[in-house]
Amino acid sequence: MTNIPFLDLQHINAPMRDELLAACARVIDSGWYIAGSELSNFERAFAEYCGSKHCIGVANGLDALTLTLRAWKEMGKLQAGDEVIVPSNTYIASILAITENDLKPVLVEPNIATYNLCPDNVRKAITPKTKVLLPVHLYGQLANMRDLIGIAREYSLLVLEDSAQAHGAVVEGKKAGSWGDASGFSFYPGKNLGALGDGGAITTDDDELAAILRALRNYGSHERYKNLYQGVNSRLDEIQAAILHVKLGYLDQDTMRRRAIANVYAQGISNKLITLPVSVDASVLELSSHVWHLFVIASEARDALKEHLAKNGIQTLIHYPIPPHKQGAYPELYDLSLPVSERIHSQVLSLPIGPTMSLADAGKVVDACNSFAL
Ligand SMILES: *Cc1c(COP(=O)(O)O)cnc(C)c1O
Repeated sequence: MTNIPFLDLQHINAPMRDELLAACARVIDSGWYIAGSELSNFERAFAEYCGSKHCIGVANGLDALTLTLRAWKEMGKLQAGDEVIVPSNTYIASILAITENDLKPVLVEPNIATYNLCPDNVRKAITPKTKVLLPVHLYGQLANMRDLIGIAREYSLLVLEDSAQAHGAVVEGKKAGSWGDASGFSFYPGKNLGALGDGGAITTDDDELAAILRALRNYGSHERYKNLYQGVNSRLDEIQAAILHVKLGYLDQDTMRRRAIANVYAQGISNKLITLPVSVDASVLELSSHVWHLFVIASEARDALKEHLAKNGIQTLIHYPIPPHKQGAYPELYDLSLPVSERIHSQVLSLPIGPTMSLADAGKVVDACNSFAL
């Protein structure tokens, strides 16, 4: 009987076990567990990987986004009530970062083909209070950054990328994390670069922003026992930084496997009831810049398809079943009319994909998708 899990973290980490244990032992034996050389070494390596000047490690991806907006408030670039444009189909963390700072989320419908922020819709949503664009590189594909950056220049807007699902995604030679004024990353275990616990980071080329973020994550302290800001405690532990540094070495190879699986799906799935994801920049997915954090198909018969795949031993997930504006956390957004987003949330289904999945298993998923009928 086939049993294909959605993502097998144990299998992903097992081949690196010795290196991970050695990294942990190094930290244990060092006697230094917070804000030491493991953190600064990883920050340097990740900044270089992304092609940005600074990397600031924090406790998680949500804090990476929240603290960046907070830092812009400290710099006088934003004030309470300013509007932040964000895709309506994002994971709720992108929106929590906005409201946590008393800023106003303006939910904009995505492009139905790519699930990413649509530049034309962004233009229509701009008001005199708009100060930030917050594109989300959803499922591992960069948003249309060239056009979005153009709009941001035209209206003097800040750009904060949510790169939590897009480590290593690259377009026109520029990676996620190097397009915007700043970018937030998550190292949640299931992300393409995942810690063995929580972790996150901000990348930016802005020296002043980087310095403020380093203070904000550490009680607002810029010098020992001196506090310039009412900061928080949001730090990336030495042990997680050491683990992430090991795993960063495998990221590109992991992405290649994800692309190979995406290619098997894209070439093999040919069921009229299923819509495949669109990779905007290559017909052969192995060559695209998409890092395939998720392989998301769509179907009007989504729930029946999910059940059919489960009967065939294939685990699938839904990213995400409820759009942010229909969440209990945001009653004030409930009545927004967002038909594209609602359609996406009712139709999407994420197939298994990951760096240790075999192409033979991907083939079994293809067969099961193709045998689905109503
Ligand atoms: C995972 C994720 C986050 C939040 O990251 P955490 O590390 O879980 O706090 C933010 N935005 C998106 C799009 C995500 O997928």
